[in-house]
Formats: sequence, C-alpha cells, structure tokens
Amino acid sequence: MRLIDGNAIAQEVLAEVKARVAKLGATVPHVAFVRVGEDPASVSYVTKKQKTADEVGMKASLKVFPETVTKAELFAHLDALNADSSVHGILIQAPLPKHLPETEVFNRVSPNKDVDGFGTQSIGRLVQEVPGAFAACTPAGVIELLRRSGVVTAGKHAVVVGRSLIVGKPAAILLLAKGCDCTVTIAHSRTQDLPSIVRQADIVIAAIGKPKFITADMVKPGAVVIDVGINRVPDATKKTGYRIVGDVDFDSVAPKCEAITPVPGGVGPMTVAMLMKNTLDACERAQARG
Ligand code: NDP
Repeated sequence: MRLIDGNAIAQEVLAEVKARVAKLGATVPHVAFVRVGEDPASVSYVTKKQKTADEVGMKASLKVFPETVTKAELFAHLDALNADSSVHGILIQAPLPKHLPETEVFNRVSPNKDVDGFGTQSIGRLVQEVPGAFAACTPAGVIELLRRSGVVTAGKHAVVVGRSLIVGKPAAILLLAKGCDCTVTIAHSRTQDLPSIVRQADIVIAAIGKPKFITADMVKPGAVVIDVGINRVPDATKKTGYRIVGDVDFDSVAPKCEAITPVPGGVGPMTVAMLMKNTLDACERAQARG
C-alpha cells in the first residue's frame, strides 16, 4: 500500500505557482473572497485560503456579509468585483443561506474570474473539454493527485460515489476527459447495490459526506482510493471535542489498496493549491487579453 501524500503534492503545486507569480513582475494575482455569515467551517476554509495566497505572493481580499444580506446587495458587490480589473478571481464560500440560490449566485461571477469553476459557462467548457476551462478546485485536486503520484488512469474503471456540483459531477467529467481516459460510473444515494459497483472500481473517488462509509468489503484488492470526505466525529481525547475522518474506513481499506489518500492530508490541501493555480491562470489570461 502506498500513501498518497496530499500535503507534499500540494506543496509541489504551490512552489510552481509561487515561481510563476514571481515572474509576473508588478502584477499581483488577486483573489477576492466573499463569505456570508459566520459558519465556523467556512471561516476556517477562507482563512486557510487567504493565508496560502499570502504565502505564494498573491493578494487575497475578503468581504463578509451578514446572513441577512439581500440578493441585490450581494450581486452589487459581485458586479463591482467583476468590473474591477485588479481582481482576477472571485470565490463565494458555500454554503449560502437558503434565500440566496447558489446557481444564480455562482453565475453572477464573470466566467473569466470563476476560479471556483461552479458557473454554467465553466462547467460547459469542462464538458466541451475547452483547453484552460476552470475546473472546480477539489475535483481538479483529485486529478492532480492521481497524475502526480503516477496512477495510470487510461482505460481504468473509476467509480465516483457522490454526484454534487462541487465534487462528484466535475470529478466524473474530468476522469472521463481525454488525457485521463477513465471509464466512469457515478453512484449516489439511489444507486442499487452500491458495494458491488464500488467493488468493480480500479479507482474509487469517495465524495459522500458520511464518515467511514466505504468499507473494506466494498473495495477490490489493488484499487486506488481517493477520499474526498471531511467529516467531524466526536472525540473526547481532542481539545476541540472532535476529529476529522474521511468517507473511507481508512484502517480496514488501506491494506487492500495499491494507493490511498489519508484524511486529513489528502485531498484537502490540494483544493487550496488548485484555487491558487486557477487564480494565477486567470491573472495570466487577463494579462494576455490586455
Ligand atoms: P453533498 O452532500 O453535496 O453530496 C453527497 C453525495 O453523496 C450526494 O450525491 C449523495 O447522493 C451521495 N450520497 C449520500 N449518501 C449516500 C449513500 N448512502 N450512498 C451513496 N451515495 C450517497 O456533499 P459534497 O459533494 O459537497 O461533499 C462530499 C464530501 O466531501 C463531504 O464530506 C465534504 O465535507 C467533502 N468535501 C471535501 C472537500 C475537500 O477540500 N477535501 C471539498 C468539498 C467537499 P444524492 O445526490 O442522491 O443525495
């Protein structure tokens, strides 16, 4: 069994980003974060992303709205960011309160600045395999982990468990695309006999949101397992009172695998690294457009 070290691979990506940023001269790539409310997980994700932007020489700005913000107020801010040529990427941290429809909000971001890849144009371009299409950061990170750890994907059967817009669907599109060339199955909560489907997988992508859901009996010997899940489970031995576990029962699954990502230290750091890469790409493209 080989452990796929997301921290080390994310550092590689970030070192490359930092070197490219240094070559830009006076132009500083700028990612603008928008947060609505004080959800503790959202606060901590945005803080981490801001810190990483700083480490690679990018600018990160943050606008926080109260939960009561209206759609008109939020859209006015997004329109201002779209019009501001010093802003290269815009990220609206999900989840949003119910009165703010996510698809509409994501679509308000200019496609040129959609570094999160959730807008209709970005997803369309991904499906069309338009070179340089912005891919959502977590699934893009999954692909980068596979590629940089030398996992052969061509012709392999990848089973993606989860069909969210944020992870499952774009992960499946990327795995299917030319270059990755997987045969892809997408499973979800209505899938019948999930264990027998996951057992067919050469590559398992677990994006379910249920702690230790994928167990050893569901995994073929020699499979590669990428665990996207981030779940808090109670743990009285921790100061915080909880610990983070993935969607895969790591202890029982790992011995059967050819390679596996840990949680934490697998996909999580890659999500942040890919956001930096997307922002830099957006900045370089804005420069090329003049
Ligand atoms: P969602 O809740 O949006 O989607 C979960 C998916 O899992 C749904 O498609 C759902 O099916 C499916 N599912 C739920 N229960 C079952 C079941 N019993 N059998 C089969 N499929 C099931 O979650 P996300 O995609 O946003 O996130 C998934 C996980 O990844 C979470 O743990 C999240 O915290 C983590 N995550 C990690 C990131 C990172 O940076 N590492 C970034 C984003 C997410 P259905 O559609 O039918 O309801």
